[in-house]
Amino acid sequence: MSKVNDPQSVDTSRRRFFAVTGTAIGAAVLVGALPRDTRAADLPHLTSDDPTAKALNYTEDNTKAPAPHQPGQDCAACNFFQGGSATYGPCQLFPGKAVHSSGWCSGFAKKA
Ligand code: SF4
Repeated sequence: MSKVNDPQSVDTSRRRFFAVTGTAIGAAVLVGALPRDTRAADLPHLTSDDPTAKALNYTEDNTKAPAPHQPGQDCAACNFFQGGSATYGPCQLFPGKAVHSSGWCSGFAKKA
């Protein structure tokens, strides 16, 4: 009897398929369930030598930011900052990078 038509072989293959698929789906659910801050913490920090950061005068210390910076303006108070109360967090203007909550760039927009 060929293995293709063997009911036991088909049953074993089916079980293996569901075991592998179940494991893959479980892993995807776990990654999706990780807190946003955990993944944000893995982002590389934006540095001032980044071309876009240079173009927008990004600095990690808002007290050293050039005009038109005004006192009280920092990433933590910016509408584009997605880090909550974390020291570093994602910024919508710099995808894939984390900016410092005390930083500033000329794209600053006060949180509503
Ligand atoms: S857009 Fe806002 S959060 Fe992003 S770097 Fe500039 S000031 Fe910081």
